Amino acid sequence: MGLTANVFKGRTYWECPQNVGTTWNLKKLLRLKERAREFTRIQLGDGGDASFWYDSWLEIGPLIEFIGMVGPRLLRLPKTARVKDAVHEGSWLIRGARNERVQQLQTILSRMEPPSPDNGSDQPLWRKNDDNYHPTFVSRLTWDKIRTPAAPVSWFGLVWFEKAIPRHAFLLWQVLHQRLPTSDRVARWGIQGPSRCILCRKEVETLSHLFFCCEYSADVWLSLAGNLGGSPPRVVVDAGPWINQHLMTTQRTTKLIKSLLLQLVVYEIWKERNGRTHKDVANSPQQLWFKIDRIMRNILISLHKPDSTGSNDPLQQWYRLMYYD
Ligand SMILES: [Zn+2]
Repeated sequence: MGLTANVFKGRTYWECPQNVGTTWNLKKLLRLKERAREFTRIQLGDGGDASFWYDSWLEIGPLIEFIGMVGPRLLRLPKTARVKDAVHEGSWLIRGARNERVQQLQTILSRMEPPSPDNGSDQPLWRKNDDNYHPTFVSRLTWDKIRTPAAPVSWFGLVWFEKAIPRHAFLLWQVLHQRLPTSDRVARWGIQGPSRCILCRKEVETLSHLFFCCEYSADVWLSLAGNLGGSPPRVVVDAGPWINQHLMTTQRTTKLIKSLLLQLVVYEIWKERNGRTHKDVANSPQQLWFKIDRIMRNILISLHKPDSTGSNDPLQQWYRLMYYD
């Protein structure tokens, strides 16, 4: 409470940009929020504390992610809204919007009791094991979850490496841990909606379909990754051997380029999928190819060192592999 009032200026922990903290501990706490999001959930009481957009008070996770950044405008509920602000005279008040995700939210809420002052205050819960949440924070159990002992070690290098772009790395981490709200998962939460992949409109949207069995994704992925040597995997979890085949020091740049490209393509395909779902904006595979090529060159320029030449220079290596070989 004190933190919310003083440091976060009335915003919740989740809404706060990472540079707000003044102390080292607080900065660290804010940096951990992406991880913390997976371990916390709110059990609704009166809806007075839980943030409507940023807290996980529904199984589908924070609504700002489920509906997207357009949510607050669509629902006319500000980012600072509490859950109780979506209730009027004991009923949910979610204005109709011609948005598929908003309609899905309305379906979920129609089966759920609105928060009420009779229920006491909202209660934060911590995840203990896969589907169990408890009011007490048990650091050992949470630490075990953070370490994800079940995750194969080969994934680690795909996600976390020195030059990785954090937002790209985090999305790949979510993919490898099956955390993205793809239509097949959302359907399991009891939400009716179109389950067809919005990229090809042919098959059911699953993670393995999106990355990269879908003909749209495969077109983009293979036309980029196919230039980098070896056989690019059609399933993202199989990318390890393709990236790690470059063992010699002289091939280090190619390995780096492959690692960065995998994360970038996954990120841009998910973004394309969300753009089509929420904003009705669509790029052709060629347009996405050009976009990824441009972003990739910008990333590689930023890695350029004055003394690097030829195959040591990531950007030169990219040009060589993509355009000349
Ligand atoms: Zn598809």
